[in-house]
Amino acid sequence: MAYSEEVLRRARKRLEQARLERERENEARREEAYARYPRLAEIDRELRRTMTQLMATALRTGEDPAEAVARIRDKNLALQQERDWIVEAGELGEDWLRERPICEKCGGSGYVGAKMCSCLRELCAQEQKLALTSLLGSGTERFDTFRLDVYPDTFSQELGTSPRRLMQSNLRLCRKYAHNFTPASGSLLFSGATGLGKTFLSACIAREVTDRGYSVVYDTAIRLFADFEAEKFGARDEDTQGRTQKYLECDLLIIDDLGTEMTTQFTVSALYTVVNTRMMENRATIISTNLSDSEFERRYNPQIASRVIGTYRLIQFAGEDIRRQ
Ligand SMILES: [Zn+2]
Repeated sequence: MAYSEEVLRRARKRLEQARLERERENEARREEAYARYPRLAEIDRELRRTMTQLMATALRTGEDPAEAVARIRDKNLALQQERDWIVEAGELGEDWLRERPICEKCGGSGYVGAKMCSCLRELCAQEQKLALTSLLGSGTERFDTFRLDVYPDTFSQELGTSPRRLMQSNLRLCRKYAHNFTPASGSLLFSGATGLGKTFLSACIAREVTDRGYSVVYDTAIRLFADFEAEKFGARDEDTQGRTQKYLECDLLIIDDLGTEMTTQFTVSALYTVVNTRMMENRATIISTNLSDSEFERRYNPQIASRVIGTYRLIQFAGEDIRRQ
């Protein structure tokens, strides 16, 4: 799963905080144990002292540190034994002085070898959800709350069905898409006038796909282009650099309201980069637009139009503007 730098950075920070918090807890427990059984403090001090000495010797002579540690254990066997007795005899419980890391699998580093540990992965998924919530607001877009009754159920010659039936089938398709989503699920083009539920349905997909642990970036076309502009023309600081990476790397990108931006050569080229890169890397994209096919072709270039119109699955929206009802 490809999480953006931003999400990863936040998740790592939280893991680090949790790790430090656990260290403080361990420390506090140790202090409490020492206060109750001062002999424990002495033993630990002595153990540490010999440990330092032996490690230094091991380093000097090029001995394997693991062997050195084993030797310390043997050497300090009596001390260890005494320590165990105190712990056992006291009311501390066996686990009291066992310093548990925040995660048994990775020790709190977030990685097992080169692989991301499940603990960090979980934090990434949570951060991803938070990032999406900040974009979507705390809205309630869920497939269950999508209202079909606002779409007229009268037959339309142009559609060959009624808007309600059309939307019923769109709803079914979007639900299935979200439910079975993988980055290779293919891309969708939501097309239709403003106020027909495109944003609502794409938000439903975003929420469900995020809930399933995928990285989703959801933004308006205007914001996406603003990020590309900032990266290209803005100050060369950390804040602007790399901020478009998420549009290329997330598992699902949803671009809302394409066509509402001021179209320039720059925006066309940025859009091409996004559409083309994602297509080459087999990552799913959902574009919603109120442009018709011919307007789309006119506004962007034939390369973009052929990729989007040619390979995205078209979901046509119809009905009357919900916001005016
Ligand atoms: Zn872990």
